[in-house]
Parts: sequence; C-alpha cells; structure tokens
Amino acid sequence: MSPSLASARACLSSVFGFDSFRPGQEEIIAPILAGEDVLAIMPTGAGKSLCYQLPAIIGDGLTVVVSPLIALMRDQVAQLTNYGVAAAAMNSANDSDESRRVFDLIRRRELKLLYLAPERLARPDTVDFLRRSGANRLAIDEAHCVSQWGHDFRPEYLALGEFRRGLGQVQTIAFTATADAATRADIAERLFDTTPRIFIGGFDRPNLMLAMQAKDSPRRQLLGFLKDRKGDSGIIYCSSRAGCEDLAQGLNDAGHRALVYHAGLDKKVRENNQDTFLREDGIIMVATVAFGMGIDKPDVRFVAHADLPKSIEAYYQEIGRAGRDGLAAETLTLYGLGDVRLRRQQIEDSQASDEQKRVERQKLNALLALCEAPRCRRQTLLSYFGETTQPCGHCDLCITGVLLRDGTVDAQKALSAIWRTGQRFGTEHLVNVLIGQDNDAVLRFGHDQLPTFGVGKEHSRDQWRALFRQFYAGGLISQDLSEHGGWRLTEAGGEVLRGRARIDVRTETLKAKGKSAKREKALPPVLRNDIDHDLLAALKKLRRELATDQGIPAYAVFPDRTLIELAAEQPASLAEMRGIHGIGEAKLDRYGALFLEVLLS
Ligand code: ADP
Ligand code: ZN
Repeated sequence: MSPSLASARACLSSVFGFDSFRPGQEEIIAPILAGEDVLAIMPTGAGKSLCYQLPAIIGDGLTVVVSPLIALMRDQVAQLTNYGVAAAAMNSANDSDESRRVFDLIRRRELKLLYLAPERLARPDTVDFLRRSGANRLAIDEAHCVSQWGHDFRPEYLALGEFRRGLGQVQTIAFTATADAATRADIAERLFDTTPRIFIGGFDRPNLMLAMQAKDSPRRQLLGFLKDRKGDSGIIYCSSRAGCEDLAQGLNDAGHRALVYHAGLDKKVRENNQDTFLREDGIIMVATVAFGMGIDKPDVRFVAHADLPKSIEAYYQEIGRAGRDGLAAETLTLYGLGDVRLRRQQIEDSQASDEQKRVERQKLNALLALCEAPRCRRQTLLSYFGETTQPCGHCDLCITGVLLRDGTVDAQKALSAIWRTGQRFGTEHLVNVLIGQDNDAVLRFGHDQLPTFGVGKEHSRDQWRALFRQFYAGGLISQDLSEHGGWRLTEAGGEVLRGRARIDVRTETLKAKGKSAKREKALPPVLRNDIDHDLLAALKKLRRELATDQGIPAYAVFPDRTLIELAAEQPASLAEMRGIHGIGEAKLDRYGALFLEVLLS
C-alpha cells in the first residue's frame, strides 16, 4: 500500500520540524504518493525539493534526483543528511572512496535519495546498476533545462527520456519555475510518454518586498539600500563584468564584504567566490546573470539590480533567489534610460528573426511598464503572469502610495519640442531645449529660436528625464534606433499633442532628485520585534562553529527562522524545543543540547 498523506504530514514535522505545508506542496505530494507522473510548476522558493524528498523518505525504494548543478547537489545532500535522511550524490566531484561508499549504499538498498549529475544519464552502466538496485522514481529538478525554448537548455537533459526507459518507465516527477506556456508544453512532451498531472502553483512571493527606482546616482542608491543590511547575505546583479568589479570595489571600500562573479573570472576564483557566498553569512555577491541558477541558499536577504534586468521573467527569477526560507527579504531594481537604450540596441543587433525581435521588444516594454507602474507593483507583476490580486500593502508603491497628477501639459511641451526639432534628437538635447540651455548644439541648430525653447524651466533636468521615461512607458513616444535613438511621436503622442487625449504621470518620480524618499521599513511578515539580539548573536555563533566543523553551510544546521524562534521563545528543555520550526528528531538529537546550553546560559 502506498504511504498516505497522513504519514507525509507526520514526516514533515518529525524529520523537517515544519508545522505545515506551504501552498501547493500537499496538492503535489498527494498524486506523487498515488504513483502518478507529475509536472509541477512552482515559483522559486516555493519549496519544490520537499515535494520529491518527502515521498522518497516515507516510501520504499530509491528516488533518483537529476539536478543540473554539483554545488546544489552537495548542499541538498548536506541538508538531508543533517535531517537524518539517507541521501548521497553521484557526480564528478566524488573521489573514488566516496564513489565506492555511494555504490555500496545503493547496492545495500539503504539510500532514499540519490542526486545524479546530468552527465551520468547517458551511461548505460549507471542506468543498469540503478535499475537493479531498486530505483523506482525519477525526480527532475529544473526541468526546463530539457527544452531548447527555455532559458537554460542543457543538452545532457535530452538523455532523460532514454534514461527513464532504461529504469523501466519508473514514475517521473518534474519541477520547474518557468512561466512560459510553450516551454511547459515542450517539457511535458520530452519527459513523459503520456500526459502527466500538471500542477501550476501561484507566482506570488508575499515575503518579497518589491521596489524599483529610476537610476539617479546608482552607487549612492545602492549604498543607501544596504545601509541597514550589514551582515545580511545578498546578491546585486550588474549587466557588465566591469560594472561588477567596479561596484564590488565600491562596496568593499564602504565597509561591506562583497565578492564578484562573472564569466570573465578564472573558473577557480569563480567557484571559490560562489562557495564562500553559499557557506558564509553576510556576503554580497556582485554578479552578472551568469550567477544564480540552482543557487538555493535559503537565507539570501536581498537581491538588487544595479541595471535593468532583461525581461519580467528574468526579473522574477532573479529576485526569486531572495527569501527562499519564507522570511522577509527585500529587493530593489534600478532602471535608467541608458539601460533601455542598450537593451533595444541588443535586440536590434541580434541575429534573431523578426518575429523573435518583436517578442523581445514587447517583453522589454512590459518590463518598463512594471518599472513605471502607477499602482501596486505586485499586482502589476502578477497580472503579467495572469494572476489577479489585491494591492499588497508592502511594495514600494503601496507603501509610499502613488500620487498621480495630470501630465498632459508637460507632455505637450516635450512632444512639441520633439516635433519642432524634426524628431531626430534624444532626451539630453531635448531637455536642453526645454529648460532653455543654450549650449553649442542648441545654438548650432538654431533651437534657441524655437517657441519651445525654455518653456520647461519649472522642472529640473532629472525631472524631465523621468518624464520622458514615462511618456515612453505610456506609449507617447518611440525611439528610432537607426538614427541614434532620436524620439518620434507615436499616434498616441500625436493625440496628446493635439489636445485630444491626456496622460497622468507619477508625481513621486519627480522627487527622484536629491535624497530618495524615506520609506518606512515595512515590518516583515515573520520577523519579530520581541527577540533578544545578543542571544540571537550567540546562537548564530554556535551555528557557525558547527557548520564550519562539518564543512557544511550554516543553514544546513538550522535556517535563520529556527534561530529567531529560539531567541524569541527561549525553550528551556529539549522537549520544548520540539515545537520550534526546523527542529525535527534528528536535529534535536544532534544539536538540541548544544543550543539549549546557549539558551540557558
Ligand atoms: P525551491 O522551490 O526554490 O526549490 P526549496 O525546495 O529550496 O525551494 O525550498 C526553499 C526553502 O523553504 C528551503 O529552505 C526549505 O527548507 C523551506 N521549506 C520548504 N517547505 C517548507 C515548509 N512546508 N515549511 C517551512 N519551510 C519549508
Ligand atoms: Zn503593492
């Protein structure tokens, strides 16, 4: 008889020390326990791993987990071992002793979960051995790697179909966070012979605080964002290698601990940096998007973008690396017109087909609309993924509120300046005209003689830049890339210029100048005020020592939330510790007494 949901719930608390399932987990685990094939689409951080780990732990046989990154496997195995679960990895990082040990465990049928590197899939000896050793379920992590349409295609994943047949058509469960329907259909077709049960989880990540700001002085904006976050782990994405190096230097100079990660670094250095980030607390990784796939460090407290991400999907995936432990985490995305121009140029210069370019342009426009959104940012984001919600109350727009004002007259001034200068100039020149700056170029073209010269003196240069961005996001103007990015009027722009339509603009982007508006720090959903910070520091110190001794990441000992709850509840006995999040039987045995000592001292 297959194990029941009741035993899954019991295992959730006794092994993992979690008191309830996260949304979606139970609905996915139930059909898995019933033996069905499942394709689950869950946002990053929703808790996918548990969905294949729990059935493996409470059922018979061996679950083979295919996962694309060795670092990730190693951490998963460390975490599971700490929970007292028999798990191991088979990959190129194993030395011969380790390999022998793993083979023995499998042969003796003592293992519950085996993490297998994709390169191994195509080896007939591996398949045969696993089939003979009772492998009865295949779990595929990051399943979109099988699709050429996904963003992380891995040719090794194509061997999965053959591998599955080699195991004897075992039950197959696949997981991905990809939001795109075409990729989903492709995954289902490539991995399964018959249509699996498809489960699509919600995309909301309520513990992520969303914020976006127009670039004004990026270094200062980022340092401001980091000010209250010393000691937290975080990622800052930059679009270029030089940008990464430069920013990391600046952060280190300002007393933060920053490391870099990009494709231009020596492989050793890169791996070292990644390792340090995973293992230690309080490091800021300044990285290109080359960093992050498969990084499942649960306690990343913030993700920032120093430059505009590529699309909403990319944005969502990148910020999704924060707060996987469910605790509050913050995000900040900076965007500037320079980013937009660069992105447009990349799209136009690429080898892609016209159709693809059109899609890319639409994706960029959707992202810009999110940047300049007039209402709750989470609502705007989720509506892109086809979900509707109430205003969230804890994004930047909900907190500061968005004041709109009639921007029609400003728009008419800008549009008129564009029109009268022949629709071939970019923002900077047009702003000079609007604020009445008679520099060389303005004089040379005789633009100081235009009726629009100096009609926009009431706004600063920065304010005009922000307005141009909004006119662009609002579809009033478009950029002609073949002519150095000069602005042109769109049809909608023409309507506004002729007074037949109006446009609202956000008032607070106009305040972008000077100090960025002070934002009340939202009280994170699960962070508590009532904790003894010295005690928390002592608990963290013990955690660090234990992790260092074992060569495992700190969160594999206990996640942050466990320490926070310990410091708040201050249990006085091992029995009382049982109710704390993240403390299952194995961890209670292993670490309970040590932490109790700190609590009682
Ligand atoms: P992803 O879906 O991105 O693969 P993970 O499986 O890595 O997410 O889970 C993210 C974090 O959430 C992990 O630290 C995990 O221990 C934790 N987690 C998963 N399920 C639960 C739960 N039911 N209760 C509390 N924490 C959970
Ligand atoms: Zn909101």
